[in-house]
Amino acid sequence: MTEPQQPDRDAPPDLHRDTLAVRAALPRSPYGENSEALYLTSGYVQPSAEAAARRFAGDEEGFTYGRYGNPTVASFEQRLATLEGAPACISTASGMSAILMMCLGLLKAGDHVLCSRSMFGSTIKLIGTDLAKFGVESSFVSQTDLADWRAAVRPNTRLLFAETPTNPLTEVCDIRALAELAHNAGALLAVDNCFATPALQRPMDFGADIVMHSGTKYLDGQGRVMAGALCASEELVEKSFVPVLKSGGMTLAPFNAWVVLKGLETLDIRMQAQSARAMALARWLEAHPSVARVHYPGLPSHPQHALAMAQQQGSGGAVLSFEVKATDPGQARTRAFHVLDSLRVLSLSTNLGDTKTLCAHPASTSHGRLTEAQRAAAGVSQGLIRVAVGLEHLGDIQADLLRGLESL
Ligand SMILES: *Cc1c(COP(=O)(O)O)cnc(C)c1O
Repeated sequence: MTEPQQPDRDAPPDLHRDTLAVRAALPRSPYGENSEALYLTSGYVQPSAEAAARRFAGDEEGFTYGRYGNPTVASFEQRLATLEGAPACISTASGMSAILMMCLGLLKAGDHVLCSRSMFGSTIKLIGTDLAKFGVESSFVSQTDLADWRAAVRPNTRLLFAETPTNPLTEVCDIRALAELAHNAGALLAVDNCFATPALQRPMDFGADIVMHSGTKYLDGQGRVMAGALCASEELVEKSFVPVLKSGGMTLAPFNAWVVLKGLETLDIRMQAQSARAMALARWLEAHPSVARVHYPGLPSHPQHALAMAQQQGSGGAVLSFEVKATDPGQARTRAFHVLDSLRVLSLSTNLGDTKTLCAHPASTSHGRLTEAQRAAAGVSQGLIRVAVGLEHLGDIQADLLRGLESL
């Protein structure tokens, strides 16, 4: 809801992004606090009845009610917009409510949304099932085959929505090509930038119109709070999304905003450090005799390696997945469970975006509701283990995985 601006009135206009990651926010309060203030308030006292009237009419800047805005929340929005290189940002209570806000703001009955079929499971459910009840049409196509996307565009297509890299196979799509396809069809392109974060990938640089975030993941980065956001043009934010926030109330809580705001200060160094560990772990796993395959965009064996390196500033990110060797799906599941149950340091958890390394078995958790055929189409095998690499020492991460891999 706020434009990115320099941290202070007298700050130079050409500050670098890493400076802005720790500085971009609303001005300090009269008390001169160095760390950004946490404003826990649901309402605001108005200076006069006339001023209140102007603020409610939108003719004057000023906070009126907690559902509509809060200074700590605005500071988070400003900082995230700055990092994404976006003109504006609006935050929400979770990543899913950001997607709900986007759909409610942009779509009406009879409109069509085109998504990758490798998207986050709840996204597919929200768009494919819940919105279908209100007459919104949708199709789900290959993450990586542009011809598939092109063939699925309809005259009523309003939105293309992609996630890159995806969970858990880290498939990468070409943001620039999808933006061109969307714009030629008179539609918008939204990108879920949860895995790469603006530290590694800024979809707007490649023509995306909307960048969606689950702040729950790397923006917080330490597994503490839920948050979400949409970065977009001022016009989209003010005309399409703010009205949904006001009536829909998917408002980000000030405390959670404060946590993710502070999280953005270390986002870049966390992503660099966690990605470096993920790269080393991917190479090590690829060479292990009990591992059939490793999925990681930083590996030359990844099908979209070159595209990922160009789009993600030479980094594969912090998430990888690998398949244990097995003769059949039953044995693969038993073996994957053995590796996970042998862990003594890393966390068995389906979350991601934490400084603690999190390991999960997608086929029985995040993708557990799919039929065996759907899972096979999605490439999620019973032997697949996903690792969201944290900040532990690489040797300890390897040793913990080796415990199970060595005793298969
Ligand atoms: C977690 C996640 C979401 C949903 O975010 P929540 O904050 O859990 O609502 C959306 N997309 C991706 C890629 C995610 O990993």
